[in-house]
Amino acid sequence: MRPHALIFLGAPGAGKGTQAREVATHFRIPQISTGDILRDAVKKETRLGLAAKAKMEAGELVPDEVVCGIVEERVSEPDCKNGFILDGFPRTIAQAKFVDKMLEAKGHGKPLVLDIEVGEDLLLKRLTGRLTCSVCGEIYNIYFNPPKVEGICDKDGGKLVHRADDNEATIRQRLEAYHKQTEPLIQYYRGQGTLVSVDGNKDPHEVARGLLDSLSKA
Ligand code: ADP
Ligand code: AMP
Repeated sequence: MRPHALIFLGAPGAGKGTQAREVATHFRIPQISTGDILRDAVKKETRLGLAAKAKMEAGELVPDEVVCGIVEERVSEPDCKNGFILDGFPRTIAQAKFVDKMLEAKGHGKPLVLDIEVGEDLLLKRLTGRLTCSVCGEIYNIYFNPPKVEGICDKDGGKLVHRADDNEATIRQRLEAYHKQTEPLIQYYRGQGTLVSVDGNKDPHEVARGLLDSLSKA
């Protein structure tokens, strides 16, 4: 099947970005990461970036109206007409309700929600060890998936960077925000009958297999 809208849910470090990149390539649909869009805006010091910067540095969520505006604009682009992946959005019940209305208005069906479940003990190590290619966005991990040459992307030789918010104090805040504001979405989507839970504790290839398998049955 070829789903219209896929939502990747899960704690920070669960592997949403890693898996969304795989699934996006597989189905040839865009991956929309609100975190990536916000980080790019912060780097370019746009008005959006200036509005989001302090919240991101504190490990708190950016206001709903800001992220909803970003998503609405991005989803209106032509490459989204056959479907798209929302990675890291929605993260609050208000955002989830916004998605429901937006998809209905655009004539997309109900979203399929993939919840990647990972034990809390693994998340800290995954996040403190994360490195991202500054050119192509490929995701590495110094403990679990190191590049062949330290600090350099295997794919394009780009410089690997460590995210400023992947430090222990900010990670704790982000996990707290996840538990308080995002975890209730599991119940929300379970109630809608659109939730699929996937074991994210295995190695990335196995997780991808589990996800694609769930998608083929959905
Ligand atoms: P999220 O987008 O959910 O925050 P990422 O996809 O960026 O998570 O993954 C967080 C870190 O964990 C990255 O360094 C990534 O390489 C690593 N990682 C992702 N999936 C796995 C996995 N299945 N096993 C081990 N490490 C993983
Ligand atoms: P991520 O890249 O998904 O880990 O997100 C990094 C940071 O961007 C988060 O800690 C938030 O500050 C902000 N952010 C990303 N997506 C959202 C969202 N859907 N709602 C609110 N804030 C977000």
